[in-house]
Amino acid sequence: MPCKTKIIATIGPASSDVTIIGELIRAGVRVFRINCSHGSEQERVQLIQIAKNASQSLCIPVAILIDLQGPKLRVGELEKPFITLHSGHAITITNQPTIGNDRVLSIGLSTLIENIKIGDRILLDDGKIELRVVRKQTTSLEAEIVIGGKLLPRKGANFPDTELSLSGLTDKDLRDLRLGMEQSVDAIALSFVQNDQDLIDLRQQIESHFPSKTKVPIIAKIERPQALTHLSTILEAADGVMVARGDLAIEISPACVPTAQKQIISTANRMGKYVITATQMLESMTENAIPTRAEASDVANAIFDGSDAVMLSAETSIGKNPVLAVKTMAAIIREAEKNLADWSVWDGNLIPKSDEEDSYFVIKAARNLSEDRNVKAICVFTQSGHTAKLLSKTRPVGPIFAFTPNPDTYSQLSLYWGVQSFLTPSANNLGEILSILENYLYHSKVKSGDQVVVICGYPVHQFRPANLIMLHTFT
Ligand code: PEP
Repeated sequence: MPCKTKIIATIGPASSDVTIIGELIRAGVRVFRINCSHGSEQERVQLIQIAKNASQSLCIPVAILIDLQGPKLRVGELEKPFITLHSGHAITITNQPTIGNDRVLSIGLSTLIENIKIGDRILLDDGKIELRVVRKQTTSLEAEIVIGGKLLPRKGANFPDTELSLSGLTDKDLRDLRLGMEQSVDAIALSFVQNDQDLIDLRQQIESHFPSKTKVPIIAKIERPQALTHLSTILEAADGVMVARGDLAIEISPACVPTAQKQIISTANRMGKYVITATQMLESMTENAIPTRAEASDVANAIFDGSDAVMLSAETSIGKNPVLAVKTMAAIIREAEKNLADWSVWDGNLIPKSDEEDSYFVIKAARNLSEDRNVKAICVFTQSGHTAKLLSKTRPVGPIFAFTPNPDTYSQLSLYWGVQSFLTPSANNLGEILSILENYLYHSKVKSGDQVVVICGYPVHQFRPANLIMLHTFT
């Protein structure tokens, strides 16, 4: 039984070969995340190709999510695979490109030295390492290592005490966006969003340079206090959000993350937007074979909060056993989903946009009918995927089978809660819809006497928004 809540696995060195990617899909991954903060462009293209090939050979659709680094600051490359910073020692931070070591690190923001003040904290690697600025020069600063530790290349740097002048999309983001569009990725996440303008700028870039890709969903990563302040306008400009708890915890403190998570998820759901909960969900499984009890509860609670997808980062990108982490997550999801009716705080009653009201009420009626008749599934015939996405947010009890002739829609729908997609010929009338249902479902998913609810736009060949519901009984 596939999980309804989608598992997103970040791929990296621990999961970059075709066999492991295939095993990850079999274990339950439906979305692969390519984190543009790591690896080369060539490696990103390779990972996307491997994931697409594995999906094709297993005949299981998966979506590719490209995660643009945004104006996130990171330390540069290091001379060694890792360095150790010792508490009490001094370190130089330069804004010039330099290969770092335990005496000097590069952080590539030209205005950094100008913006930072003596006494400000610099937090590295999710706040595990703390530096404090003691002296400033023209292109570098000197800091005391307050809390030392092991540091790997390209780890994040946060400046909780400093007002930084940053712009939303960097040149690197634009290169990665091009790469993603050329590789036909299914969704784009943007890191370090501060306000809706960052999303408007990204959408404009897509509209002017990749006009055939304007339907690719844009996901705003919420990891700054400013993004929480502008949450509603960000959600209006985005197709979805990610609760990016790693940087969020550094910026607002770990104590404030659980409440922020609930606020982000419930606001996104009410507005009918897609929502991912991310970061450290099974972190201990990067090393260990079992999760902590707290991690198992965290995954289940993210589902009860109403997440559409839950995400693995280090567990699958650099962890010792990526497949086991996914199997563990899938087991927790399945158990939580058996108990959704008792514990979920999201009831599926979203507030539709005015131009979506007809589709929304048709979908709601289909959901009620599917529950009253205890049908096997709700079957959606969709070109753009819109009806399936909206239905997904209303959380029907049974699965959503989405039939589409559009290969982009087919893979993109893997992102959405409860949706299983099928790539089929176009249906031009109700007779052809019924014969597609027979061909794709009979024997494998339904048997004689089973019922499904069908939703489509009528007349069928005109790709209208959902306006027809049918109760179909297989003979
Ligand atoms: C996060 O900060 O939680 C996150 C998902 O972003 P990244 O992995 O890019 O740090």
